[in-house]
Amino acid sequence: MRDKTFKSTLFTKLSGLYSEMEEAYNRAAGKIGLSCRGCPDNCCASHFQHHTYIEWAYLLKGIKSCSDEKKREFMNRAMEYVRQSRASLAQGLRPRIMCPLNDNGLCQLYEYRLMICRMHGVPNSFVRPDSKKMSFPGCFRCQELYSHLEDVPVLDRTGFYRDLASLEMAFVGPKIKALPRVNLTLAEMLVQEPPETNYN
Ligand code: SF4
Ligand code: SF4
Repeated sequence: MRDKTFKSTLFTKLSGLYSEMEEAYNRAAGKIGLSCRGCPDNCCASHFQHHTYIEWAYLLKGIKSCSDEKKREFMNRAMEYVRQSRASLAQGLRPRIMCPLNDNGLCQLYEYRLMICRMHGVPNSFVRPDSKKMSFPGCFRCQELYSHLEDVPVLDRTGFYRDLASLEMAFVGPKIKALPRVNLTLAEMLVQEPPETNYN
């Protein structure tokens, strides 16, 4: 087990990377005029997964910073989320359930929200390690807004993915090859105990 200072350094780097993502997102959203304010949808009710142990651990750090009452509330909602989402999936339906960390439409752990939460909305792309380029048009509201633009800004996630993968490797250490790939909703991350890595 390596020392806590190194873990805290990794968390600081993750937080810095999150800020860079936020800046890139805000630049693209600003050019398009996209804001989630007043949107008839709320993407926090979408069903999606997260994929890194370091983000999982950082999220749990955020949870630990909450009051006991709030922690209990989040955990109860997360358990209910997992129960309902499994029931929907068993019926072949895509769950649409509000994230357990969302109160009245707002994320209660905004500083700790994960990469996927930060990147959704604007058009974006990334180049996979096998050189295949993946492109996403952005959310429905964004597509309506940029339909009249000639030069649509596209957020390139490639560097962010690469930097996150480096932090993940440093965080998990040599166990990275033996551990299962993370593929969990945020609710599952709250309900499940993460396996032991270098730092937990
Ligand atoms: S990302 Fe788009 S669809 Fe989702 S809440 Fe924001 S504006 Fe609405
Ligand atoms: S963590 Fe926050 S931003 Fe992400 S889905 Fe939950 S409430 Fe929304």
